[in-house]
Amino acid sequence: MIATGTARATEIARDFPILAQRTSRGKRLAFLDSAASSQKPQAVIDSLFHYYTHDNANIHRGVYELAERATNAFELARAKVAGFVNAAEPAEIVWTRNTTEAINLVSFTWGLANLGPGDAILTSQLEHHSNLVPWQLLAAKTGAELRFIEVDGDGMHLLDDLDAKLRGVKLLALSHVSNTLGTIAPLEHIIPRAHAAGALVLVDAAQSVPHFKVDVRALDVDFLAASGHKMCGPTGIGFLYGKRALLEGMPPFLTGGDMIKEVGYRETSFNELPWKFEAGTSNIADAVGLGAAVDYLERVGMDWVAAHERELTGYALDRLAPLEARGLTIYGPPDRTRRSGVISFNFADIHAHDLASILDTEGVCVRAGHHCTMPLMEKMGWPATARASFYLYNTEEDVDQLISALEKAAEVFKLP
Ligand code: PMP
Repeated sequence: MIATGTARATEIARDFPILAQRTSRGKRLAFLDSAASSQKPQAVIDSLFHYYTHDNANIHRGVYELAERATNAFELARAKVAGFVNAAEPAEIVWTRNTTEAINLVSFTWGLANLGPGDAILTSQLEHHSNLVPWQLLAAKTGAELRFIEVDGDGMHLLDDLDAKLRGVKLLALSHVSNTLGTIAPLEHIIPRAHAAGALVLVDAAQSVPHFKVDVRALDVDFLAASGHKMCGPTGIGFLYGKRALLEGMPPFLTGGDMIKEVGYRETSFNELPWKFEAGTSNIADAVGLGAAVDYLERVGMDWVAAHERELTGYALDRLAPLEARGLTIYGPPDRTRRSGVISFNFADIHAHDLASILDTEGVCVRAGHHCTMPLMEKMGWPATARASFYLYNTEEDVDQLISALEKAAEVFKLP
């Protein structure tokens, strides 16, 4: 029988060897920073070990057995990722280092080829720098205008003027889930309107693909970017999903080996998809590791992951609420159905960094700062926030440890 809720999460946590350790102060580890990077299950660690121990060779060009095995493992991982997001075919998945590189790929290829003065790019006020800076630079290079969907004080998108904002927009680039406030963008409403206005849609899925089922075809996204390290996979591997027709029409990004078909001294023709966008030796082992992460998440079940995180976030919000009387402020959408497992907060006038340091002495890992959303912090008037974020291996015990650590901080800072 499959255990539910925390009992199941406790079992799952045992798959993650790093979580079994005690801190140098002898505290149980409550890892609440998965929005920055997730931990890795033994199955992913084993897949890397297995790859380097049994299959390692350069891919695609070798005719010997080892090279064929490495190539097969690499391409099988691509097929697993394609299945995970329901792409029509593996060729629509391009390996990148991370979300950031995937977004830059679109900016440098599709963007430079298709945008000019009079065009517009629409994004939102919630974006991570990775889904903002590339568009600022693209706008500056092409003369296109950069526009923003505004958000309210809770970080909810203000969509009343969306159709007006979409006029002349060629690309809507939006994060699915905010890494700072946990806001889930209502893509099912926004994407059809963007398409009706003639815009393509790029989704920054760094904080959604790891946490709930994302179906690129059901959402009808044109491009989607995600990072392996946030979804139980290794660092240094991520992917760009793009519709075949779009990827085919785009010039290459980086150039050199592997992305070519024929090379002469003066001219080159390019490889087929997806290799046209994968210049040089790829991060083979970590792609294989990401394939193992996808297998792991599918074994657990993304519906379970989503339900568990929703339940645990609700539990955390309930347990945090009494601390509001002592000066705790929780940010983000009050509607729990519109937020993911990310909780940003401040506690009275304790600086978020000091707060995170005190929590650390209690074994609680949270992030503090601007979370790579400096314009959002500026707009909201927050110098910094502390952020707890949950994943499939977190339990009520982790939340209880966070609450005790916050109570300790209240004592240290002599809060009433
Ligand atoms: N977008 C969002 C919403 C993120 O949370 C992050 C990572 N914090 C990124 C983009 C960038 O991811 P990476 O650093 O893996 O490229």
